Amino acid sequence: MIILSGGTGTPKLLVGLKRVFKDEELQIIVNTAEDLWISGNLLCPDIDSVLYTLAGVINKHTWWGLQDDSFHTHTALEQLRYPEQLMIGDKDRATHIIRSELLRRGKSLTEATLMLARNFGIPDRIKILPMTDDPATVRTIIHTPDGKLHFQEFWVARKGQPDVLDVSFDNLEKVNPSEAVLEVLEKESEAMVLIGPSNPITSIGPILSVKGIQEHLRWKMVIAISPIIGTGAVSGPAGKLMRAKGFEVSPYGVYTCYKDILDTLVIDSNDQFPADTGVEVLKTDILLKKERDSKRLALFLKKYVMGATRARTRSRRNTT
Ligand code: GDP
Repeated sequence: MIILSGGTGTPKLLVGLKRVFKDEELQIIVNTAEDLWISGNLLCPDIDSVLYTLAGVINKHTWWGLQDDSFHTHTALEQLRYPEQLMIGDKDRATHIIRSELLRRGKSLTEATLMLARNFGIPDRIKILPMTDDPATVRTIIHTPDGKLHFQEFWVARKGQPDVLDVSFDNLEKVNPSEAVLEVLEKESEAMVLIGPSNPITSIGPILSVKGIQEHLRWKMVIAISPIIGTGAVSGPAGKLMRAKGFEVSPYGVYTCYKDILDTLVIDSNDQFPADTGVEVLKTDILLKKERDSKRLALFLKKYVMGATRARTRSRRNTT
């Protein structure tokens, strides 16, 4: 299964997917549009959340950074009047230092991610693939009445408070998918694609906009989990950003974000959805508070994937 991932929601689901699917079934393409260099090191928020989740060391209160981390370097920098834009934990910073050193030695972001994954004890069979090997080239820009802000400046420094007029991505049209992403998309022609419950605008949107990726997905069976329950995002600015891009903030709005490629949408049991869209809608509990919620949703998906695969095999047999 090919999984498209941002932060928070999809990593929460990965906890269960890892227990229910085989390692080699997890091929995760990760957003890099929020990456940025800070204090000489490359921070990849979504890759780090995926790494830390699969290694079982993510901070499960925030869904970013490591559990039991300290912030001595961050505080020392502040005391020396060099405040950093983001709160970076000491152990978390070690990840960024290794990644940046590997890049400086000529490794690609994909190779650096693989080495970090190994060092965190994640089996090679699970593939964690940055959407592109052009590190920190794409920039997510939030347009506000006060001017343009980098996504992290908007979300972290300004706490997501400014009104949002638009969202744009610098250089997105210039980057290519990594070779490893292309290989997975080409080789796994029968694979099901799971769009995790991450931000449709700033996490999944950039992956779908990288040259060629969406074209590959058109030929595959695509299932998405809604990150919107009722009329709002479970966390983060997805609602505000969807509204700014002209989408309704609802499961239906999520469908409209993905409608060019979507076959099936999973929405919360209590949510409504119009009958005439042509997309298959599955209802179940999609609020992931505990590990058991994630495992239950993963089992639900496994059952669905197995059923869909059987149906496809049958229909192919009948047409040959
Ligand atoms: P950001 O936090 O908006 O930058 O985006 P991320 O890609 O990190 O993902 C956040 C998304 O995860 C939000 O849109 C949330 O609604 C979604 N999310 C977080 N927790 C859950 C959950 O328990 N269930 C579902 N369905 N979505 C979730």
